[in-house]
Amino acid sequence: MIKFLDIQKINQQYATELKKVAAEVIDSGWYLLGEHVVQFESDLSTYVGTKHAIGVGNGLDALRLILRAYMEMGIMQEDDEIIVPANTYIATILAITDNRLKPVLVEPDIDTYNIDISLIEEKITPRTKAIMIVHLYGRVCWSKELEVITKKHNLKIIEDNAQAIGAEWNGIKTGNLGDAAGFSFYPGKNLGALGDSGAVTTNDANLAEVIRALGNYGSKEKYKNIYRGLNSRMDEIQAAFLSIKLKYLERENETRRSIANYYAKNITNPEVILPKILKKPKEHVWHLFVIRTNERDRLQKYLTKNSIQTLIHYPIPTHKQMAYKKWHGTDLPITEKIHNKVLSLPMSSVLKMKDVYEVVNLINHYTR
Ligand SMILES: *Cc1c(COP(=O)(O)O)cnc(C)c1O
Repeated sequence: MIKFLDIQKINQQYATELKKVAAEVIDSGWYLLGEHVVQFESDLSTYVGTKHAIGVGNGLDALRLILRAYMEMGIMQEDDEIIVPANTYIATILAITDNRLKPVLVEPDIDTYNIDISLIEEKITPRTKAIMIVHLYGRVCWSKELEVITKKHNLKIIEDNAQAIGAEWNGIKTGNLGDAAGFSFYPGKNLGALGDSGAVTTNDANLAEVIRALGNYGSKEKYKNIYRGLNSRMDEIQAAFLSIKLKYLERENETRRSIANYYAKNITNPEVILPKILKKPKEHVWHLFVIRTNERDRLQKYLTKNSIQTLIHYPIPTHKQMAYKKWHGTDLPITEKIHNKVLSLPMSSVLKMKDVYEVVNLINHYTR
């Protein structure tokens, strides 16, 4: 079978290094708030180009903590509005509602799958405090127009960078484009831990300090609690793994780019709409290679029958989920169209080219 993503194989490549450092952490007797987290935070901020990086428990917490910190700092209040793409993974929106802020769902651009920047300004009200952009599927979401709108209306830009670590816009890495960014190191992400992990990056020293305290029971000093914080910290063992895997991220993202290029150049079935290969290849790290087709369900069945695993990102949009019943009537036709037609092809840094050829060949031979 050709797997969608073989996480075991990815980590097998680095097994010697990972096992060595795991043994060091086990023997050290120190598992939280130690030298490995300090080291990884330094590695990550150097890589991304920001002044600060804060390790947290997971990607959802990274986003929750950014918003929570802005609330503690008096920059946002309950019921303030946050503009967000409607077709993102639910975590982006959970981070907003969890803080009793109001997500304002905006349709994506059907060609990029990222928020349609031309629709943002009409959604801005006096209560709008931020735009949460998502670099969805690994593609940078940024433009001069976005910079102009946010400056004009004095809005924060928060990046959901869970899917795009390593991507760049005009030489600036995602995570260093906006005011703050949330990263996920969920095992299946481009930089995956061996469990849950996440981080926040920012150039704002004050924000960084508040987030660090909030993730540690709201305290900067043990037993002195400034905020009603939570417990969301990166494990030492995960930080140690991530410092090792970060060294190989650029190489892995290059492999993803060559696979994406091959898919894009060689899939010729007219039923299939392909993602665009960008003139500036660094603007995409291909966390997912997502095609669109009216034949989605039939094509997926056909590929499964031929031993190729594909996934749907995502089958149900957030505004149609049980968790958000009050939004079921919201009119978001582009978002719904995407959710009904997208299919993610096998994509990872360990996918063999001969398997890529096989996927392409099968798709090109698909007929109704
Ligand atoms: C994975 C993901 C998250 C959440 O990250 P976790 O580490 O799983 O909590 C948030 N947003 C997007 C777009 C994601 O893909």
